Amino acid sequence: MMRTPIAAANWKMNGNLALIETFAKHAWPQGNVEKIFGLPAIYLNKAHEMGLKILAAEDVSAHESGAHTGEISATMLKEVGVTYAIIGHSERRTDHGENEELLIEKWKQLKSQGLKVIYCIGESLQEYEAGKCDEAVLRQMKPVLDAGLVDAETVIAYEPVWAIGTGKAATAEYAQQVHAKIRALLQGNVADVSDKIRILYGGSVKPDNAAELFVGADIDGFLVGGASLQADVFDKIVGAMV
Ligand code: PEP
Repeated sequence: MMRTPIAAANWKMNGNLALIETFAKHAWPQGNVEKIFGLPAIYLNKAHEMGLKILAAEDVSAHESGAHTGEISATMLKEVGVTYAIIGHSERRTDHGENEELLIEKWKQLKSQGLKVIYCIGESLQEYEAGKCDEAVLRQMKPVLDAGLVDAETVIAYEPVWAIGTGKAATAEYAQQVHAKIRALLQGNVADVSDKIRILYGGSVKPDNAAELFVGADIDGFLVGGASLQADVFDKIVGAMV
């Protein structure tokens, strides 16, 4: 495959310094898999110092700097050794009312600092049950495509919301079907780079379903929540990809 697959951890609001040390010392499977560790922002600097690579923030401010109490800028993330930022995770869309308009501003901040974007999309349970997955994907993808933000380094994480943290992963067939539609959408908009863009699946990925899901031609790896919180478990997911 011409695309280097990605195994990305998303710790969410979990973990601590001891777990970061364990992860930093762990002998991860080598081979052609880009391993990315998405950690709470407060730990990123330390994780970088401990030698854990490659780091992702779980969010970023839509502003460059200034009077935005509690926010963290793209410049700050870059300064402490971060490479990627996850934006548009369903938990941020739901808990913090984040929409495409805001995410475009966050994306612009990241791009201005040369940070790479992991852009999360996916249909809700309600949309899934109503057969409106395609609509949801288009609603989340079109604004960022129209804004000219998607490039060869963009990573898309397709995460059906009904599969996140539920233990009910999408079937390999369903996931590949949606990924192929996302690829087609990219082909129609950014044809020159559509083959380079990694499309990750997320939603209850575990060691026992990773290999099967990874078979899909357009499934370029995973964004992993719960199963990324133990080194030996995440190791098995990475192992299923090498
Ligand atoms: C996620 O939140 O990105 C995720 C995929 O979570 P989980 O693996 O726990 O379903």
